[in-house]
Amino acid sequence: MLDFKSTVFVSRYRTLTNQRMFAMASKLEGKVAIVTGASSGIGEATAISLAAEGAKVIIAARRGERLEAVAKHITENGGQVLPVVADITDEVQVKNLIQKAHAEFGRVDILVNNAGISFPGRIENADPSNWRKMIDINVLALMYATHTVLPIFKAQKSGHIVNISSVAGRIARAGMAAYNVTKWGVNAFSEALRQEVYQDNIRVTIIEPGLVETEIDQHITDVVAKQEIAARRKAITPLQSEDIAAAILYAVTQPQHVNVNEILIRPTQQDR
Ligand code: NDP
Repeated sequence: MLDFKSTVFVSRYRTLTNQRMFAMASKLEGKVAIVTGASSGIGEATAISLAAEGAKVIIAARRGERLEAVAKHITENGGQVLPVVADITDEVQVKNLIQKAHAEFGRVDILVNNAGISFPGRIENADPSNWRKMIDINVLALMYATHTVLPIFKAQKSGHIVNISSVAGRIARAGMAAYNVTKWGVNAFSEALRQEVYQDNIRVTIIEPGLVETEIDQHITDVVAKQEIAARRKAITPLQSEDIAAAILYAVTQPQHVNVNEILIRPTQQDR
């Protein structure tokens, strides 16, 4: 069963048969891409979009059934995919994921560090265990994956790391402090990383979405914050996951001498 997001994505190409859609595109032919958090939202749309351009994709998340549905969609449309169930807050599972991808396909060209969570809410009311969860997935998991993939990229003398940050990595906001910390961290890590690896022909891109309609709000535990963010989303036309996937595709399909370091994308109606 395709879920809603996949259906939306596919509907954009409804004038083509699915088979033709995947066969026509080939900007990433021969490339191997790992996408974390590919069981829903931005990661799912990105995996589908990279596969449609000819990349072999390794998709990771904890929900195996959802991953299988994404994998089925990709294979039914002529793409190549390897689903890997992993909790990437566990360093060992991250290593296994990347080693499995490398062993299966013989190389890794693109790592999209997308998996993430958000627990908005004011500091004084916060449950600090939610801060730890956010730091574990939004920051540390991304660092583990980067650390593991770098030797592969260095040996190949090429590779591209795409880190999904947020507008919250640039603009602080009351009620978002802890999430701001994690995404600010992603941005700082990414720029330092870029300076460490550019001489090895390795590219680093930060993607900074504004409000995107995904499942991310489902985990919010702070009732007031949940209402606030729902109201913010309702007041505007939010981005769709496919809008972010398109930006990622743009970054990873540029010629080797072009390093798209940062793309910040807001819905047109988002204030800040
Ligand atoms: P979703 O909730 O739809 O997707 C989050 C993904 O992360 C899921 O596939 C989830 O899979 C995965 N994930 C969460 N925890 C883990 C874990 N421990 N191990 C492995 N995978 C995990 O949200 P989005 O698509 O919106 O979020 C994707 C990224 O975009 C995040 O980094 C988020 O911070 C960022 N972002 C989102 C915005 C928005 O408005 N939606 C705005 C700006 C940035 P599973 O649960 O199956 O493990």
